[in-house]
Amino acid sequence: MPQLKGIPVTVDELHRARQDYDALVGRGLKLDLTRGKPSPRQLDLANGMLDQQGAPVSADGVDLRNYGGLEGLPELRAIFAGALQVPAGQLLAAGNSSLELMHDAIVFALLSAVPGAERRWVDEPEITFLCPVPGYDRHFAVCERFGIKMVPVPMTPTGPDMDVVERLAAADPQVKGIWCVPKYSNPDGTVYSDETVRRLAAMETAAPDFRIFWDNAYAVHHLTDTETEIADVLALCAEHGHPDRAFVFGSSSKITFAGSGVAFFGSSPANIAWWLSHTSKRSIGPDKINQLRHVRFLRDADGLRQHMRNLAELIRPKFEAVDKILTAELGGTGLASWTSPAGGYFISLQVPEGCARAVVAKAKDAGIALTPAGASHPYGDDPDDRTIRIAPTYPELPEVEAAIAGLTTCIRLVGAENQAAT
Ligand code: PMP
Repeated sequence: MPQLKGIPVTVDELHRARQDYDALVGRGLKLDLTRGKPSPRQLDLANGMLDQQGAPVSADGVDLRNYGGLEGLPELRAIFAGALQVPAGQLLAAGNSSLELMHDAIVFALLSAVPGAERRWVDEPEITFLCPVPGYDRHFAVCERFGIKMVPVPMTPTGPDMDVVERLAAADPQVKGIWCVPKYSNPDGTVYSDETVRRLAAMETAAPDFRIFWDNAYAVHHLTDTETEIADVLALCAEHGHPDRAFVFGSSSKITFAGSGVAFFGSSPANIAWWLSHTSKRSIGPDKINQLRHVRFLRDADGLRQHMRNLAELIRPKFEAVDKILTAELGGTGLASWTSPAGGYFISLQVPEGCARAVVAKAKDAGIALTPAGASHPYGDDPDDRTIRIAPTYPELPEVEAAIAGLTTCIRLVGAENQAAT
């Protein structure tokens, strides 16, 4: 039975929590806070992508209707170079999904030695990745798919616990990589401090072919007027004598159209040459027409910045509503703590140990769909059963409010039932 510390619950309080929950179920809600998808109104802001005029020709006169241009459209790479902190010449614009690129990076590394490797990863007795938790479930799913062992590393307010990362990376040559979402992380909204980035770049690793999978998915997704900057991982890796350590990924999925955006891969010149030697076997070139649409719609780095501000206007009220309702209903109760991110797509909610699954199940029965408890941990196993990821972007504001208010009812009930049982 989960243990809750705090003031013992009275019979009255338990009774009230049950009544509130029954009333919630009686409302027959059907709300979904599961995945971080843009709302239809966000997507509407990018509709300009659909009615682009003009010849399908690049700035340097290439007919984009034809094969070729494996590196992607230079003018699009230039727009995203600053945001992703990769020199445009080392930044590739690829297909529609960065997750696909991360998947490919693992497959390429398994089947063909990465620069600096003694052998292919598939020839190693075992491969281990460090997984800051809570983290992104689809990263963990890629590892699981390829039999890569995952070792959780606790997140801190400044990024992964670097004492743990340094110890594990230095101790074992089978530790080949780490997943990082360095800005507005999924799901905590954490921003890596400069010191964390420096230590990642500088640390000694037992594996000569250690790679940082730097998934900068939320590089420009600020919710406030402050455009948070993080340290330049590629430059720091080079400065500390590990130029090939970082693979940088980015995507416009949550900028333009989710699933019809453009994905980016950036790295050192040696890694880019390695990457292209594989992708040239896989494809005769990316969808340059979609890349051109992005160039014409976003225009330049300032156009990108303005578009993100417009999106933030739609998203910010939802994040504020979540914070306000959680504070009003659960503040000071000891039943929950949560993040208040300055960007990204998620809020992470911590409930008392042993309660997350029960809360998610109660919410489901009340018609409120949440990401399964445990999804933010490798193998779907949150050993403390505490973390719940809230994705408030897709539903409209009244639905977000109803879902979060309902969620607090579930948390109060699970809390009261458990306290009553102890
Ligand atoms: N990385 C992170 C951290 C994400 O949250 C997401 C989307 N939920 C992705 C990658 C997927 O991006 P894409 O659509 O480019 O595959």
